[in-house]
Amino acid sequence: MKISVIGTGYVGLVTGVCLSETGHEVTCLDIDEKKVQSMRNGISPIYEPGLDEMMKRNIEENRLFFTSSYEEGLADKEFVFIAVGTPQSKDGSADLQYLNNACRSIAESIQNDVIVITKSTVPVGTNEHVKRTIESHMSRDFSISVVSNPEFLREGSAIHDTFHGDRIVIGSEDEESLERVKKIYQSFELPILTTDLRSAEMIKYASNAFLATKISFINELGNLCERLGANIENVAKGMGMDQRIGSKFLNAGVGYGGSCFPKDTNALLSIGNSVEYNMSIIQSVIDTNEKQQRIIVDKIKQFIPDLTNKKVGVLGLAFKPNTDDMRDAPSIKVIRELVDSGADVYAYDPIAAENARIYLPGATVYRESIDETLQDMDFAVIMTDWKQIKEYPLDQFRTQLKNPVVFDGRNCFPLAEAASHGLQYHSIGRPSVG
Ligand code: NAD
Repeated sequence: MKISVIGTGYVGLVTGVCLSETGHEVTCLDIDEKKVQSMRNGISPIYEPGLDEMMKRNIEENRLFFTSSYEEGLADKEFVFIAVGTPQSKDGSADLQYLNNACRSIAESIQNDVIVITKSTVPVGTNEHVKRTIESHMSRDFSISVVSNPEFLREGSAIHDTFHGDRIVIGSEDEESLERVKKIYQSFELPILTTDLRSAEMIKYASNAFLATKISFINELGNLCERLGANIENVAKGMGMDQRIGSKFLNAGVGYGGSCFPKDTNALLSIGNSVEYNMSIIQSVIDTNEKQQRIIVDKIKQFIPDLTNKKVGVLGLAFKPNTDDMRDAPSIKVIRELVDSGADVYAYDPIAAENARIYLPGATVYRESIDETLQDMDFAVIMTDWKQIKEYPLDQFRTQLKNPVVFDGRNCFPLAEAASHGLQYHSIGRPSVG
């Protein structure tokens, strides 16, 4: 099948590459010329495990192409995926400017009938707006059908998730288009849920909001556990054994971040407001998360009230392991607060340090290794549970740090082990040791 994918970020590029891997002919289109040039050379502009190799293979086999020209990108294509960003506007709603621009460009360059498939996360009703926008800007009369196909991949395991996800959701009012889009995914052998357009759009927000709710719930319980001398890990284990609850997404920590949960929970609030419906649970989830992102700084100040000229080694910057994505990473707020309180911050991330410089200009000295980041520091703060951080020997914290004090926002180490290595160890929802 001949497919065009518009927008080559974490979702668009992975989608394009994976679809080409299954034998489709795919052209990925982006307005960012630099990205296009790099992708043509087989270099992915984002870090995603396994992506570079798969990209190169499909370029060599002439199934995967890159362009910044809509005319070239849409030529002969029967399917056009939209995967541009839908970031948060100032008022909390989803900013649809990139989507609107893409629709207008599609309308101007379209040369045949197409099925437009929206992968971007968009408010309920947006696909109908996509159809209207394209139709009203077309100079010739082609048939446009719209299909919502929300994306559920997770950064860091995006390729695995694309081929082994729990479900593919396809929504449309047009039965024939639904059947044709289903065929694109035939070889994936995954459960496919076909539904109406608006429900498909809502499934994405509902899923992300539910996951965010689980995180805020366990974090709130963790804060209570700390005050009562219980241990949130033991509590989560006991809860998770109940299959109605499930054990996933019950890890207490410094709150959720990233390019999806914060903006999608806010967008859902805004969708509710647009029909005068107050989403009080979602509002609490957001409020709890905002407090949680600051909790590690509160803890630090409880033990070290004056941070002036204190040297802090921060381990992990990305919002989660295996990604270079720094959008809404809790580390940004924590580092800013530490710096504002007078501390000197030295930070390490195996992959995200380059992107971190964009979000934290001048606030931090970046280090190349964990050893270097800990050397002679007054204390350490763990912000991302990268494998290399979780596997870093605890006795090394003691050897490298000036004072063996660790504030762990991701509960990377068992309490007994931290205590046996002589650390003063403060984590989330668990008693402090040392
Ligand atoms: P991104 O910001 O990484 O990438 C968006 C890309 O679109 C950029 O490369 C940009 O240059 C390009 N672009 C912008 N305007 C364009 C235009 N008019 N024509 C062509 N290209 C254009 O975004 P992302 O993280 O891949 O997210 C894309 C969508 O998928 C969002 O709606 C997001 O909510 C959703 N989503 C993201 C994830 C995730 O983990 N990142 C997961 C599921 C769903």
